[in-house]
Amino acid sequence: MSTLDASVDTTIRAITNGEAPGVTCTPELAKGPWQFDSTPGYGPGSSMFDVIPTGSPRQGALPREYQDASNDDLHARIRAAKKSLGERLVILGHFYQRDEVVQHADFLGDSFQLANAAMSKPEAEFIVFCGVHFMAETADILARDEQRVILPNLAAGCSMADMADSDSVQAAWEELTSVYGSEPDADGRVPIIPVTYMNSSAALKAFCGANGGIVCTSSNAKTVLEWAFERGQRVLFFPDQHLGRNTAKAMGVPLDRMPMWNPHKPFGGSTKQGLLDAQVILWHGFCSVHKRFTVGQIEQARIDHPGVRVVVHPECPMEVVDAADEAGSTDYIRRAVIGATEPTTFAIGTEVNMVNRLAAEHPQHTIFCLDPVICPCSTMYRIHPGYLAWVLEELVAGRVVNEIVVDAAVQTDALLALQRMLAAKPRD
Ligand code: SF4
Repeated sequence: MSTLDASVDTTIRAITNGEAPGVTCTPELAKGPWQFDSTPGYGPGSSMFDVIPTGSPRQGALPREYQDASNDDLHARIRAAKKSLGERLVILGHFYQRDEVVQHADFLGDSFQLANAAMSKPEAEFIVFCGVHFMAETADILARDEQRVILPNLAAGCSMADMADSDSVQAAWEELTSVYGSEPDADGRVPIIPVTYMNSSAALKAFCGANGGIVCTSSNAKTVLEWAFERGQRVLFFPDQHLGRNTAKAMGVPLDRMPMWNPHKPFGGSTKQGLLDAQVILWHGFCSVHKRFTVGQIEQARIDHPGVRVVVHPECPMEVVDAADEAGSTDYIRRAVIGATEPTTFAIGTEVNMVNRLAAEHPQHTIFCLDPVICPCSTMYRIHPGYLAWVLEELVAGRVVNEIVVDAAVQTDALLALQRMLAAKPRD
């Protein structure tokens, strides 16, 4: 079996059973996610050692019939439920989702593309989001009030999004405003603007909306920072330090003007003068999937494949982005592959499900994941066809389970921050 024509899930099972060469970060990945639902944690995979915040949503027990069903049986049941629900249903699949789930999706994309895809199906009563918690929240914010958003496994959070919580960001904001005050400068720019990455809770998007701030994606982070610098003297960027640092550095912000904010230390671990000199204050957050990529892997890829084109996601650490040939969002990476007119060797630094899918879809190219250890996003991996079959059959029976509802007050301010992002235009 070649890893190119097998899903990541099948490949991990084969490695775990000793039927295929290769390495996976944990054999626990071959188990059904329901075996971890009662244990607090992100489950096996890239984020498994990250600290899960108290009060994170837990998934109740998946009914036994779905745990015991074969994949073929589950796929048949999903297809039948989809057919029965017809236009009342739209299924969204994130690029990082396993193939066994993605094959049932009506749309495949990044979190913002999928939220927009949901808006393009206003007739759909049910939006089943095969991604992680913050994505389902964003879909609920953007969807019509009558549309109901469902996350098949409530334990599918995002460890990076969970690294910034409302209380810690609010406390940081109060400390920062005690240093900066609230008076604008001679150009009318306020002392500080909050910018949150799309990968954050609805509550933090609302915090930005309420405090003159904005949301960004990995595709538009530069445009959003330009927007923020036109209106503010500096930026508090959360939760991903790497996207913030990589983007601001490419815009010419010196590294010594980008202090890190550690929420467990007074003034984030900086001096008052350091904060006064800051242009971008970076929250101490990261993605454990993208943190796995190293400069050593890039050097090895260049030795093994002379002429290789190394493309990485900007959630990777700065030294990895600097050593790569290109860095860009999942959509950028897809377009880089699709746009290559000559057979090309690509070493890609992003989640393995997406990389293997690109490899299978573009056999004219040689495409491989920079990280030779197969280690998917653990939270995305919590969505298994068993959960998808369960939520769909419940819908057919007239019951809505695992609905994600964003509080109306949060929704209003979060929408404001998202609308500012949509209105922000790149500088010429
Ligand atoms: S890949 Fe990283 S940022 Fe994306 S959902 Fe997984 S943990 Fe979160």
